[in-house]
Order: sequence, then structure tokens, then C-alpha cells
Amino acid sequence: KMLKMPMPSTDSVKVAVRVRPFSQREKNSGSKCVISMHSRTTTIIQDPKNPEHTKTFTFDLAYWSHNGFQKDKDGVFISADPGSKFAGQKEVFHDLGRGILDSAWQGYNTTLLAYGQTGSGKSYSMIGFGANKGIIPNVCEELFQAIENRDKNQEYQFVLLVLPQVRDLLSRIKKPGGLRVREDQQLGFYVDGLKSVPCENYAQIERLMEQGAKIRTTASTNMNASSSRSHMIITIQFKQVFLDRDLTKLSSINLVDLAGSERQKSSGSEGDRLREGSRVNLSLTNLGNVISALADAAMGKKVLHVPYRDSVLTKLLQSALGGNSRTTLIAAISPADICYEETLSTLRYAERVM
Ligand code: ADP
Repeated sequence: KMLKMPMPSTDSVKVAVRVRPFSQREKNSGSKCVISMHSRTTTIIQDPKNPEHTKTFTFDLAYWSHNGFQKDKDGVFISADPGSKFAGQKEVFHDLGRGILDSAWQGYNTTLLAYGQTGSGKSYSMIGFGANKGIIPNVCEELFQAIENRDKNQEYQFVLLVLPQVRDLLSRIKKPGGLRVREDQQLGFYVDGLKSVPCENYAQIERLMEQGAKIRTTASTNMNASSSRSHMIITIQFKQVFLDRDLTKLSSINLVDLAGSERQKSSGSEGDRLREGSRVNLSLTNLGNVISALADAAMGKKVLHVPYRDSVLTKLLQSALGGNSRTTLIAAISPADICYEETLSTLRYAERVM
């Protein structure tokens, strides 16, 4: 007997913005800070030459990643709004990862998406570096820990699927032309022949992710693209079997590292690269359309059509985003004036999907 969960209410889409510290390159070039945060608001100075000209956005959460940018007039960056909340990996996990875990235990599908230009901190938030573990390792670790401590009357099973556009990152065998996306009346869209691997602990997931990341890099090189111009979806299928109640709860946790959102300039790239770039941008736009349609529906607005079919990405995320799902988007941004255009476009994207 499968448990049907009710439609989640208006909190089905949550949006967080996270600004990373200045990079060395930005520091070296004497960049100025164009972002300030106060509580849930994020302000961007729209014209660095005219600091009065600003635009303010309000998201569910706003994360500052640096203890102030104290530096002077005409020197380098300017300091943060004293109201900005410094957030390390632990806090971000606490706010976003915990909710994902709770939903998974309750039988909801959850999706965490990282959006932003290349170098804005998507991987840092999702995966992290070294001791600064991101949301994915923290979610996985806590999931397995909880399982070990739970009632033995339940059984668990995990399946991990990792894919960029449509390449199986768990399989070394390369299908010419990639894997096919098919549609099933009941299951919806799925990737034909995609491998899934049962995992018993976090170390296994970690190994698979490393292997997947390697294949992603090689695949991108072969396609003459950079890995930042492909999407990666990691799906953890989580099944709870309650033997005493003849009940099964099935939920999936989808962790999506989206391709860099930077607009492709026609100068500097041509032919295949340019085509690939505009395909990526189109798929991000389609994703935004799907999420905002779902958010409208959750608010009780009449939505006639959710355009899942418009791109491979949204086809594959259909069950992860629609129906009994909860979605979180992290918009990753740089604080620097040189990234101003892309940062503004990321903030606008994030605002639109709310
Ligand atoms: P992306 O995945 O968007 O291309 P990365 O996650 O690789 O970007 O981030 C670019 C650089 O910025 C990395 O060196 C990373 O360590 C650093 N970085 C990003 N976000 C943060 C953060 N919140 N705190 C500290 N360093 C960060």
C-alpha cells in the first residue's frame, strides 16, 4: 500500500540567495562590493558609478559569507551592511538541508537547485571543499545516521543516479548520442537504461559522486565544452518500508548543480560552443517557467499548462518538481562590481521563481 501525500501548501518553493566572498582575482583588480544584505533583503547597487541607484529583493533566506568587506574609499571593497548575517556551511545546511531530510522522511519528493554564473559558489554550497562540507554530504551523512538509529522494523534502500545532460555518470560505457529520454504513462519521463546503485552508507555515495564528477569532466572535454556548461542531477531514492503497518513511503531527494547561467556572448565562442551555450540558457529559462508555474499553482492561481516538455532538463525533473514535491533554489552570487550584470540577472531569476 503506497501512501499518497497531500499537495504541499504555499511553501513548496523556497528561495535562498548566497553571496560568496571576493575571489583573489576580484581583490587584485580592486573590485567594489555592490551587494548588501539585511535580514531577508538583498540590495544590489545597480550603477556602481551611482551608488544611490539600487534594487532590493526579498527572498526566504539571504546568506552573507564574509565578515564584512571593510576597506576604504577608492581602495577596494566597501563594508557590508551591519545587518547581514554571516553564514557558514553549517548554518546553510541547518536551514535548507534539515527541511529536505524532514520532507524525505515524510514521503515528499524534494529538489535542491543551485543557480548562478560559473564561479559564483554553486559547488561550494552543494558539495563544498575539504572540511567545509556542503549540503549534499551533510544531507547524506545525516540520512544514514538517522537510519542506523531508527527502528529495525523499517528497511531502507538508496539509489543514486547521476547524470549531466543525458549521460550516465555511473557508467563508463559511453552511448553514442547519449541516452534516450522516454515517456511512460505512469512513470512520466525517464532515462532509458540509466544505472542505479544501492548504497548502504555515505562513503559509497561519496565514491560514486567522485566517479561521476570525473566522467562529467571527461565527457565535457570530449564534447568540447566546459563542465560548468552542463547540468548534473543526483537523485537519491529513499524507500521506507513499515513492516508492521504494511506501508511504504517512497521519496526522492534531487540535488541539481545547474550549468553556469552566464549569457553566452557571441564573441569568443562560435559554432558548437555557441549552440551549446544557447541550449543551456534555454533550458534554464524553461526551468524557471516550470518552477514559477508550479509556485503559482501552489498559491491557488489557475495554471493551465506547466511546460515540462520544453527541455530535457524539465522533463527529467518533472516528478522532482511537480506533484508532492518541495523545491529549494539557492541563487549563488558574487559580491563584486565586475559581476554586476550576471548577479542582477541571477537575482531576477530567483525572484521570478518565487
Ligand atoms: P561554481 O560551482 O558556481 O562554478 P564554486 O563553488 O566553484 O563556483 O566557487 C568558486 C570559488 O569561490 C571556489 O574557490 C570556492 O571555494 C569559493 N567560494 C564559493 N562560495 C564560497 C563561500 N560561501 N565561502 C567561501 N568560499 C566560497
